[in-house]
Amino acid sequence: TDVLKIENLHVSVEDKPILNGVNLELKRGETHALMGPNGSGKSTLGFAVMGHPKYEVTEGRILLNDVDVTEMEADERARLGLFMAFQRPIAIPGVRLADFLRHATTNVRNPERKEGEDLIPMREFRKEIKEKMNQLQMDTEFARRYVNDGFSGGEMKRAEILQLAMLQPKFAILDETDSGLDADAVRLASQSIAQIGGEEMGLLIITHHDKLLEHNPPSHAHVMLGGRIVESGGVELAHELHSNGYERIRKAYPEAA
Ligand code: ADP
Ligand code: MG
Ligand code: MG
Repeated sequence: TDVLKIENLHVSVEDKPILNGVNLELKRGETHALMGPNGSGKSTLGFAVMGHPKYEVTEGRILLNDVDVTEMEADERARLGLFMAFQRPIAIPGVRLADFLRHATTNVRNPERKEGEDLIPMREFRKEIKEKMNQLQMDTEFARRYVNDGFSGGEMKRAEILQLAMLQPKFAILDETDSGLDADAVRLASQSIAQIGGEEMGLLIITHHDKLLEHNPPSHAHVMLGGRIVESGGVELAHELHSNGYERIRKAYPEAA
C-alpha cells in the first residue's frame, strides 16, 4: 500500500516557527482525524504537506512511498497523488469549473504531460464528469460556473468534492470541508466523501463536527497543540474531544498550550 509519512516536521511562516516536530503516518485506505483547538497548526500541516510556497520546512521531511517530496513544487506533489481541499479556496475568475477540472485531471493522469500538450478528450471527460456529478447528486450546470467566483460556502465545498471525485488522489487532506454548511449540506458532503474516498484513499480529515467522522469513521485520531501532535489514539479520542473539548489536553500538555 501507499504510505504518506511526515517525519519530525518543523515549519515556519514568514520566519515564525509554527510546527515544532510533527510525526504522522497515513496509509492509503485509512482515515485519520486531525483535531486541535484553533491556531494549533492543523491547516499549516496541510499546506506544508501540499507544498504551499509560504510554508517553509526548516527541519524534517515528507515522504510519499519513500520518495522525499519535501522540496517538490505543489503541482508535482499533486501529480504524485496528494490533494488538499482548502478551508478558504481561491476564486479563479474566467475559468469554468469543468475546464479547470479537465486540466487538473489530465495533469494527474499523465504526470509526464507538458503544458500545452493534449488534454483528456472532451467527449470522454464530459461523460466522466457527468457520471460523477450524477453520483454526487449535483446539477451538471454547476460545472459551467466560474471557479469559486460567487460560489456560496456550500457550492465551494461541492466543487472541492467534485474535484476529489475526478482526481482520485492517493491521499487527501480535507480541511474543515464541512465548515459553514447547514446540517443537510454537511450530511450530503459527508456521504459523498465516504462514497468517493472510502477504501480508495488515505484521508486526513480536519473537522470540528461529528457528522463528517460519523460517515467516515477514523481508524486514528491525532490532537495538535502548539504545533505538535500531543496525543494519538483511535476513534474514541475523536469522540471524547468532540464531546468535551480541549480542556483535558491543555492541562495535560501545558508546555505546548
Ligand atoms: P489551525 O488550522 O489549527 O487553526 P493554523 O495552522 O491556521 O491553525 O495556524 C497556526 C498558527 O500559525 C497560528 O498562530 C496562525 O496565526 C499562524 N499562521 C498560519 N498561517 C499563517 C500565515 N500564512 N501567516 C502568518 N501566520 C500564520
Ligand atoms: Mg485551520
Ligand atoms: Mg494555516
